[in-house]
Amino acid sequence: MKDYSQSVSDLFDSQLNEWDLARDNYRQLDNVKVRKIFFAEFEVVVQFNPGRITSSAAKVDASSIEARPCFLCEKNRPAQQRGISFEQDYTILINPFPIFRRHLTIVNNTHTDQRIEGNFLTMLRLAEALPEYVIFYNGPQCGASAPDHLHFQAGNKGFLLIEDDFRNRDLCTKVEVDNDTELWSWQKYGRGIMTLRGLDKQALAAAFDNFYARFALTQPERPEPMLNILASYSNNTWIIHVIPRKLHRPACYFAEGKDKILLSPASVDMGGVLITPREEDYDKITSADISGIFMQVCFSGKEIKSLTEDILL
Ligand SMILES: [Zn+2]
Repeated sequence: MKDYSQSVSDLFDSQLNEWDLARDNYRQLDNVKVRKIFFAEFEVVVQFNPGRITSSAAKVDASSIEARPCFLCEKNRPAQQRGISFEQDYTILINPFPIFRRHLTIVNNTHTDQRIEGNFLTMLRLAEALPEYVIFYNGPQCGASAPDHLHFQAGNKGFLLIEDDFRNRDLCTKVEVDNDTELWSWQKYGRGIMTLRGLDKQALAAAFDNFYARFALTQPERPEPMLNILASYSNNTWIIHVIPRKLHRPACYFAEGKDKILLSPASVDMGGVLITPREEDYDKITSADISGIFMQVCFSGKEIKSLTEDILL
């Protein structure tokens, strides 16, 4: 697998040089406000990021999606936006509305629905090609603001808290091993996550497929079962966090007045960095609010256990 680190770094340099909107938005990251919120066993970061309002408040119902030109299709992209080809079917772009210092969108070259089924191995190859990044996938009903156009995102490593939290044995432990593939389970983390770690792409994909088939049965009315995925690669090893979801947006998203918190959780939030595009929400959000949000949108550890039992076999 070719390492894309240098060509992506060059893409950043040239795009920030020639594309005013992107340069301004990356500079704005210097002014983004962050604060930590502490729980008994872990912490999260809240980021006030007004540039993300379009994404967080995106209308993703079928008629709204149909009515707008797709911003990931090449013909509708800004003239200044250039990309790097990845394999036959994908283009690596810099995301002009960043959360991370280095934030990429990897788009399919055709306008085709956002689905993980059949594309999981692409995600693992992306992680391998971009070892300085965490690759993430938001399902079509679970945070993707373009549910009609297949894409992944990537953000520089060292930003999401889940990376370190995974090394904390009080939070995460190995529960099953089959050859080179491991299943890990989380406790006291407030949100149910299935984590796979291993050396063998095909075996990891087989384990994911087993999980997916079982999970899909519980949400038969949906185009795909709701989930977020974070994947990274180092030392010949993939680490994949799958966050199955019960709900797209929590009740506080839809509340009015002082009860409203405009937070639309997706992969980054599940990774421990919660994005609030409105300053009032950033100021007022508490650990109890966050626990409540996780509880509404995620499965419990117990539920994850039954969804993941024997998936390595
Ligand atoms: Zn499109």
